[in-house]
Amino acid sequence: MRLLMHMCCGPCACYPTEKLKAEGVEPIGFFFNPNIHPYEEWRRRLSSARSLATTVGIELIVDNHYGMREFLSRTLPLIDDDDTIQNPDGHHARCRVCYAWRLGRTAEYAAENNFDAFTSTLFYSRYQNHELMRSMAEAFARQYGVEFYYEDWRVGWERGRELSIERGLYQQNYCGCVFSEEERFSAEWRKRRKKFFSGLRAQREEPCIRR
Ligand code: SF4
Repeated sequence: MRLLMHMCCGPCACYPTEKLKAEGVEPIGFFFNPNIHPYEEWRRRLSSARSLATTVGIELIVDNHYGMREFLSRTLPLIDDDDTIQNPDGHHARCRVCYAWRLGRTAEYAAENNFDAFTSTLFYSRYQNHELMRSMAEAFARQYGVEFYYEDWRVGWERGRELSIERGLYQQNYCGCVFSEEERFSAEWRKRRKKFFSGLRAQREEPCIRR
């Protein structure tokens, strides 16, 4: 099978490539991540993806364009003053745009270049909205007429961490966009999130008095 595998970075590709190779599938990597900022961070993640590809002996196709401006023009209109408030299924509105852009472009590229199927290392992450991404990828598969190869690679989380550390790959500590960087490191945002989630917990624990 000719499989195009979207790669968000090197560490997230460790387990999927090991698993695919064990199953006899040789994926071709595809680096397309306009959501990663700032530029130096994008370069570090690209470099870790290249390093992993060389180590495991897979081809890597790279979209070399740093897409920060396009990313911001698509997502800024969705950001409000209190962006801690997530959708009921647990993601920011901007993440939906981000998933759709990366998965959609991967499906489109796979169809244009005669791949049998496409997938993404995003399905390894414990931090993304897995089910939302899965339904989007299935929709793109129908739209572009190319199969979506699905595996829940989260089961290999520990193995992937072990491999990436062993290989000395750069370990990022935030999701990717400037918004996620702020949410990860700013004390103000940590406070806001804590408040938001404790409010959510309180709502869930409140006994239902209406019949
Ligand atoms: S938090 Fe992550 S998934 Fe969401 S928009 Fe930012 S980079 Fe994309």
